[in-house]
Order: sequence, then C-alpha cells, then structure tokens
Amino acid sequence: MPETTPEKQAKPERPAVDRKARLAAPSHRPSKQDPATRIANWDEVTNLFDPGIAMQEAARCIQCPAAPCQKACPVHNDIPRAFWLLENGDFSGAANVFRETSELPEMCGRLCPQERLCEGHCVVGKNALPVAIGKLETFTTEWQEAHGGQPVVASVAPTGKRVAVIGSGPAGIAVAERLARLGHGIVIFEAWPSAGGVLRYGIPTFKLNKPSIDRKFAELEALGVEVRTSTRVGEDIDWDALTAEYDAVFVGIGAQTGTRLGIPGEDAPQVLTATNFLVRANLELDDLPDTMHTPLGSPARVVVVGGGDTSMDCVRSARRLGASDVTLVYRRTEAEMQGRIEERKHAQEEGVQFEYLAAPLAVLQGDAGEVRGLRCQRMELGPPDDTGRRRPEPVPDSEFDLPADMIVVAIGYGVDEDWGEVVPEMVRDRWARIVADPDSLATNLPGVFAGGDDVNGADLVVTALADGHRAATAIHDYLVAS
Ligand SMILES: Cc1cc2nc3c(=O)[nH]c(=O)nc-3n(C[C@H](O)[C@H](O)[C@H](O)COP(=O)(O)OP(=O)(O)OC[C@H]3O[C@@H](n4cnc5c(N)ncnc54)[C@H](O)[C@@H]3O)c2cc1C
Repeated sequence: MPETTPEKQAKPERPAVDRKARLAAPSHRPSKQDPATRIANWDEVTNLFDPGIAMQEAARCIQCPAAPCQKACPVHNDIPRAFWLLENGDFSGAANVFRETSELPEMCGRLCPQERLCEGHCVVGKNALPVAIGKLETFTTEWQEAHGGQPVVASVAPTGKRVAVIGSGPAGIAVAERLARLGHGIVIFEAWPSAGGVLRYGIPTFKLNKPSIDRKFAELEALGVEVRTSTRVGEDIDWDALTAEYDAVFVGIGAQTGTRLGIPGEDAPQVLTATNFLVRANLELDDLPDTMHTPLGSPARVVVVGGGDTSMDCVRSARRLGASDVTLVYRRTEAEMQGRIEERKHAQEEGVQFEYLAAPLAVLQGDAGEVRGLRCQRMELGPPDDTGRRRPEPVPDSEFDLPADMIVVAIGYGVDEDWGEVVPEMVRDRWARIVADPDSLATNLPGVFAGGDDVNGADLVVTALADGHRAATAIHDYLVAS
C-alpha cells in the first residue's frame, strides 16, 4: 500500500492560473446561525457554503506546485487538486480527492485546527484570509452525500487473515477501513454502546453532526467490517483469547481518562468530568450505558475549568442546556490557550464569561453536600515551563469565590492506567502511553500495533488518522510476511 507523503512523490503538474488576479479576489466564508438562535438548539453552528460561492472561494487557490497546505496536513490531502475540480464544478470529484487520503473528510473539515495546519500554511493567507480549506472540504463531502458520486468499492478476494481492532475512534476507523479494502477480515471491539470514539462520545453535535458518524460505520459494514459494541477488551473479552484468535491486533483505545483537579470537594455529585458532562448533554439515552441515564438537570450556573477544545465544548453545551451563567476558569491568559480560535470566538459570542489567570482551590458545598461554588485564586505568569508557555504562579491573598450549581473539569485526558493490567507485558511510558515504533507503530509485542491518542497522548482526529494509515501499512506487511 503506497504511503501518501508528498515528499516521496514527484511534484504534481498544477494548472497555470493568473495568480495576481486570484490573490486580489475577495474571500468568502459560509454563514452561521446567529448566537441567540444557536444556543437554543444543538444543530451545527456553521452553515454549508452555497455552491456558487464555494466555487469562487476554491478559485482563490493559486495552485502552488509546492502546496505547503498539503505538506502541513498530517494525511497530506491534495488540496490544490481538489480545489481545481471544485472551482470547475466537479464537487463530487473534489470530495473523492479528499477521500483518497482521508477516511474522515467530513470530520476533518469541521474539526481540524486548520489555522495551524493547512490554512496556517496557505500562501494566499500571507496577505489576506487564507482559502477556507476546512469549510470547502466539508462542502464537497456534504454535497456528495446529498447527490451521490462516492467511488465504487472494488470487491477484493479475502486474504483469510483476521485483525482485531480495539477502539472505534479515528485511529481504529482508519486501520479497519484500509485493511478491509485489502481483503483482511476486521472485527472492531468497542467499549461504549455505539461506535465512533470521541467523535460520538465527546464532540458535541453543534460541531459535528452525528449522522456523518453513522454513515461511516455503514460504509465499514458494507466493506465487511464487524463492530462489536459494549465489549471492553480486558473485561468482556480476555487479551489472551483475542490474540489467539486473530493474526494481528491494533490497539486504538484513545486517551479517555479525565485528569482530576485534586482539590477538596471534588467528589461532590455535581462535579463532573468533561466526558461525563458532554455525553449526557449530547447523546440519546440509548447511546449511553445504564450508569449514565441520570439526567443532568438544568443547572443555572455552571463553571468549567480548563482552556482547550474540550472546555469550549463544555461551556457551549452548558449554554445549550439553558444555564444563564457560564464561566470558564483558566489559569493562564487567552494568548496561551491551545484550542481552536474559532471555537473560542463562538463561546464568547454565546455569552460565556472567561476568568483568565485563575486557578481552582476548593469546591464550595452546602449543608447537604450540594455544590455552591468554586473557590479560586488569582495567578500571574512567571518564566516559561517545559511546554514553552509561561508558567502560572499564585498571587498571595487573592482568593475569590464563583457561585456555581455544577462544575465541569476539562483539564486534559490521559491513557487508561488499567490497560497495564489488561496487557502487563506491553511497554508503556511514565504517562501510561503505549510505546510504539514511530514509523510502523509496532509495539514490543509481535503482531500488536498501536496508534492515536493512546500513543501520542490527547491530540487530534487527523493525527489519529495519520497513525492509522501508517499502522495499516505495517500490519498489511506483517500479515503478508507471516
Ligand atoms: C471533548 C473533546 C473534543 C475534541 N475536539 C476536537 C476537535 O475539535 N478537533 C480535533 O481534531 N480533535 C478533537 N478532540 C480530540 C480527538 O477527538 C481525539 O484526538 C481522537 O478522537 C483520538 O482518536 P483515537 O482513535 O486515538 O481515540 P478515541 O477517539 O478516544 O477512541 C478510542 C476508543 O477506544 C475505546 N476503548 C477504550 N478502551 C477500550 C477497551 N479496553 N476495549 C474496547 N474499546 C476500548 C473507547 O471507548 C473509544 O471509543 C477532542 C477530544 C475531546 C475529548
């Protein structure tokens, strides 16, 4: 299976275009639901491009032969080629260019932090808004969904080899799809009641509509992939039984354990982890395990602690649940925040208050143990830490209280520590991340590969996909050789 690294390929011919005229052309962005309307529903915030406008925006691409946008994309989508088709009216052909290198263009168009990947490297963006690469990618795939034109899947002779994929998130999806297309028999094991990983159990519907996830699993099923949900490896099926039955295993269990604050009162019932809060706010009961069927209620005052994409999803979900007073507490300033700028802007527009340079000290509780608020202290920025960002340091005697009925903790995710009990012989690092070869994603165990957040730590959909691609290539080579 060829890898898609553009450096390994000859530079493609690009059409000759009038670059000067294109650089002077006006930019376009799709419309959005206005903030007052959108906080009363869970629908996607950004509307799709109108087809004519999408063609005009795609025609801003100057067709650079070096295509820095393509190089900056972790799966190396051939963006200029897709946009040439798009500007010439072949919307489905454009979607298929994205599908050549990505199993999840519907998701990446909506979720990637384009400002630091493709759009951040767009040459047009040096003196103007970059080409709206993510929004155009979403347009092409949605247009194709509505009008047809997906490539016909060629039937492949079964190889007789069977691969177990643990986890149905982006990494598992990429491995399963690529190997199924090569004729290998794939079974995905998924602990949650439905498939999709964080795409379903984390990212809210106003950022990513759930039907696009269902469509992906229908496609996988059509390729012969079997998905066994509500099946946790290590609990519902034993590791030794699994490795005895399958010729190779891919471990894509993600990083799903929420980091705790470690402050007094954190065990109060209205203090929730981000995932516990998001899935109960966003999903139907059928998609949730029985233990999560208790309704969240309608808290009026919600405080969310954190500063990344997950915390933005939490504050915005809280507004949609009807909370009138939603505050984000972050220990640094906006300049050090790492999530997508667009999502932060959406949260601001939706009326979320931001308490920068503040860190939680204790959960305040009433007589019955109910949450009454969060005690915080002011911080100031000191010298840079090992992430290169300035370290927050407490300001003496600066405590203050924020009233709250519910507190959501969104300060990061780690890999499940218990995985070490499931497979003690698998080498992991001191943060419980699985150690895998960076090229092949092979673990220390023969025939066992791993990738996505369980190797990288909490990261991105597109990096999990890219890992899935490398792992699928290596697993295929392993199966052919064995
Ligand atoms: C709230 C939230 C918002 C995010 N927003 C964005 C965003 O806007 N853009 C972006 O690019 N990234 C975002 N991310 C990060 C992104 O979703 C992840 O990086 C990506 O999903 C990782 O994919 P993965 O396949 O490695 O793992 P996951 O998606 O975590 O999937 C792992 C799957 O393995 C299953 N599993 C775990 N243990 C077992 C077991 N023992 N047996 C069987 N199954 C098991 C889990 O149930 C899960 O379904 C967000 C993450 C969160 C939590």
